[in-house]
Amino acid sequence: MAAPPPSSSSFSTPLLLYNGVLVTMDPHSRVFRNGAIVVSGDRIHAIGHSDDILRDFSHLADGSIDLCGRILLPGFVNTHVHTSQQLGRGIADDVDLMTWLHERIWPYEASMTEEDSYVSTLLCGIELIRSGVTCFAEAGGQHVGGMAKAVELLGIRACLTQSTMDSGEGLPVNWRSHSTDYCIQSQKELHRKHHNTADGRIRIWFGLRQIMNATDELLLKTKDAAEELKTGIHMHVAEIPYETQHVMNTRKVEHGTVTYLEKIGLLRENLLAAHSVWLNDAEICFLSKSGTKVSHCPASAMRMLGFAPIREMLDAGVCVSLGTDGAPSNNRMSIVDEMYLASLINKGREAYINGTTNPTAVPAEVVLKMATINGAKSVLWDNEIGSLEVGKKADMIIVNPFSWTMVPLHDCISSLVYCMRTENIESVMCNGQWIMKDRKIVNLDEGEVISLAMQASNYLLKRARIKIPNKMNFL
Ligand SMILES: [Zn+2]
Repeated sequence: MAAPPPSSSSFSTPLLLYNGVLVTMDPHSRVFRNGAIVVSGDRIHAIGHSDDILRDFSHLADGSIDLCGRILLPGFVNTHVHTSQQLGRGIADDVDLMTWLHERIWPYEASMTEEDSYVSTLLCGIELIRSGVTCFAEAGGQHVGGMAKAVELLGIRACLTQSTMDSGEGLPVNWRSHSTDYCIQSQKELHRKHHNTADGRIRIWFGLRQIMNATDELLLKTKDAAEELKTGIHMHVAEIPYETQHVMNTRKVEHGTVTYLEKIGLLRENLLAAHSVWLNDAEICFLSKSGTKVSHCPASAMRMLGFAPIREMLDAGVCVSLGTDGAPSNNRMSIVDEMYLASLINKGREAYINGTTNPTAVPAEVVLKMATINGAKSVLWDNEIGSLEVGKKADMIIVNPFSWTMVPLHDCISSLVYCMRTENIESVMCNGQWIMKDRKIVNLDEGEVISLAMQASNYLLKRARIKIPNKMNFL
């Protein structure tokens, strides 16, 4: 099937890729065993069986790409990542939560410059692209201007969010003076400056770091501002039992954050609730009824938070997607690894809570949905990304499965979740442009970014006075 011919304003010659396994992730879950796709400008112009497409678009034969049985997928959407924490990878491994936050992460973030944020996002972006991510949702970090500059260069798509807090204990000195109005106005200014820039690849969202760092006034004003600007809100929700207790004590509700957000009307379709681990049945129902999206970050949850009721949320119809969280709470920014972990952890949780195993829980096709179309819904962009469909943006990845990691391919869909490694991702296209081609990052010098990042992170740790104790007997 094909859309009307591309208009004369389309800026490049259409590109035809054929002879691949096309996993569309469309509403009918169609997989073309031998499929082809035509990209025109920044959009998908046609998709179907190779024979049909090659016949209908024979004039594009020159320069067409034979996929030789490789797998074509929509680009993955990472719905919770702290790009400005990438330079802090390894600064908070195996420490308790309060040390993690008060002695490592907050001093690190509070000491960042805009240039640090730029370099951090470049480094993070390289890892995201290598793991097949074409769109990410920043969880709320420092210096959105630096992030935006990096995203523009990387060629990736992003919903950027500023870390936003107007209250709470233990905050670094230079953050304590942020008033509620400053929080709202500075984000409105970022929206005015960066929203819909970089050929429409950048969107600006509102951030709420977490409920213990937000006054009621900030929660409500954020809701209104996001509604006014028709954008999303990204917030850490129900992360630890202490948070639940804190909300019950201070906000006088029967359970935790989700119960309170429901009470004040903040649960809604444009809220992306990261983690959502400590929920009761009523709260799962609130999330489902309100259309609130949930970002599940399996690795980070296992290290810092606990088992989220993912199977129950999916059963209740909650849109659950996948995120990596930041480098100091996961270390690997690979959505490929998160897919593998999401399935295993949620199968393991069944044995833990029911006393008997359930290998059918959270199966491969559901995990693949979480990483693609559910991700697109979570970032409010599913009208344009998340699946391979005519008219949607050409955000897609080529997987080369013919290596020791994936052969033999008896079940292509499960192999993508249970066998694929980041190294199997060969090429990545975003907005109709290759951003990784044959495993080479296209728009920047990867080696240069790595040396810049090593230098910047050393200076940053010195400024933040963070010392990492040796774990073993170094000589
Ligand atoms: Zn986070």
